[in-house]
Parts: sequence; C-alpha cells; structure tokens
Amino acid sequence: MHRLETRKILVTGASRGIGAAITRRLLAAGSHVVAVARDFSDWAEHPPQLETITLDLSDLDRLPDQLGEITRTHTELDGLILNAGHGRFGSLEEFSYHQIREMVEINLLQHIYMARALTPHLKKQGHGDLIIIGSEAALSGGRKGAVYSACKFALRGLAQSLREECSQSGVRVSLINPGMVDTPFYDELDFAPGETPENHLRPEDVADAVEMVLQAHPGTVFDEINLNPLKKVIRFKK
Ligand code: NAP
Repeated sequence: MHRLETRKILVTGASRGIGAAITRRLLAAGSHVVAVARDFSDWAEHPPQLETITLDLSDLDRLPDQLGEITRTHTELDGLILNAGHGRFGSLEEFSYHQIREMVEINLLQHIYMARALTPHLKKQGHGDLIIIGSEAALSGGRKGAVYSACKFALRGLAQSLREECSQSGVRVSLINPGMVDTPFYDELDFAPGETPENHLRPEDVADAVEMVLQAHPGTVFDEINLNPLKKVIRFKK
C-alpha cells in the first residue's frame, strides 16, 4: 500500500473548484502535490509540500515540451489527476468553429497529451494512479451539451482503454463522474445547480472519491465512480 503521505501527485485545474478541493485533501493527508492551472492568485496557503505550475493546458503546441520538463523535474510522481476543464453549453449552431476547437482542446486533447507524457513514467515505475474527472455528461448526452458531452464520452473511452493498457504495469486508471458540483464552473453559465444541499455535490465529495480510489488496496481498481446530488435541480439564472 502506498500511503498518501509518501505520494507525489499532479493535479490539473487545481486553482479552484474540484481541483482545489482535491489538492487541499491531498495536502492534508501529507502528500506532495504538483498543482497545475493558469492562475493561482486566489491561493492563500503555500505549504511546503505544494508546488504550483502555471500552465495553459490548451496551448497544445507548447504542451509536449512543458510536460517533458515536468517529467524531468518531478521524477517521483506516482499519481496524476486530470481534472481541468471548462463548461460551455448551447445548441451546436451557437458555437463558432473556433469555440468548438477550444472546447475540445481543454476538455479532451490536453488530457490525452497529459496521459501520453506521464503514463510511461508511471508504468516504468511499476505503480501509480491515473484518475480522470469525467462527468455525468460522460454517460448520457443532453440538450445543449453536444460538445461538452462529446469530450466527456471520449474521456470515458480514454480511461477504459488506458485501464486495460496500464494494468499489467501496475498502474491503476479510474474515471470519476460527478453530477452537478457547486463550483465556479457555473459562474459564466446561465444555469447552476439548485442551492439546497440536496441539489448539488460539494467539491469535497469528489475529493472523498479521489481519496477512496487512491487508498484502495493496490490490487483493487475503482474503474468508474458515478456520484450525484440526491435531488437534481437545475436553477436557471435570469
Ligand atoms: P472550475 O471551478 O471552473 O475549475 C476549473 C479548473 O480548471 C480551474 O482550476 C482552472 O484554472 C482550470 N483550467 C481551466 N482551463 C484551463 C487551462 N486552459 N489551462 C490550465 N487550467 C485550466 O470547474 P470545476 O467545477 O472545478 O470542474 C473541474 C472538472 O470537473 C472539469 O473537468 C469539469 O468538467 C468537471 N465537472 C464539473 C462539474 C460541476 O458541476 N462543477 C460536474 C461534473 C464534472 P485556471 O482558470 O486558473 O487556469
């Protein structure tokens, strides 16, 4: 069993929302965290086991070199939590072609690049965890969610394939699919989850799932975890 206090884990989208909750949970458990996002100016705490890397994950031309630098610098990484993402919703024709491309870059392609760069290291090491934060939108499509859902469905395929590819090397791959979580994800959207505690997950609930996956017996894989608010309510903003 690789105890959390001995682990070094990279978390993308760690500056706020779900990624920040996961980061805080891992730091509290004693893990070393390499936190990736574009803007950490809201982070008040800077404990010694936290290292922040400011990176635009959707800059795919530069990403392979930047990831090469991360793998050279952080040779002890034994966990990768691919959480960064961005929500934009609307009928397909409301998206420009450029916006479609931006959505696919941040919600799918960067995940594939990250996994491409970092899983060889985990495999060589013979142990480690890759956790992808998917969504309920990875399981069923819905109105106004075509682009987002297409990316999340694809992440499910990525997780399932890598789960098979990596298991012989001792690396566990898991997909966590939350329903609506109360985070800044909704700040620029015209809807949000309902406000009562039964209507939304908390970012800490997703951190609970991550912690459970990481702390499972080394021979056990949570292939996929779906978690949802007790009562789904979508609140439309004026
Ligand atoms: P959030 O509060 O908006 O946080 C998104 C995170 O991703 C931020 O840390 C942001 O950091 C980072 N990010 C976005 N674009 C980036 C880029 N180009 N380069 C680097 N980092 C970038 O959203 P959240 O609710 O925590 O969502 C996290 C993940 O959970 C996403 O994959 C989302 O699809 C998924 N999810 C969310 C919900 C929900 O209801 N909230 C439900 C299911 C799944 P910077 O802006 O500092 O770069």
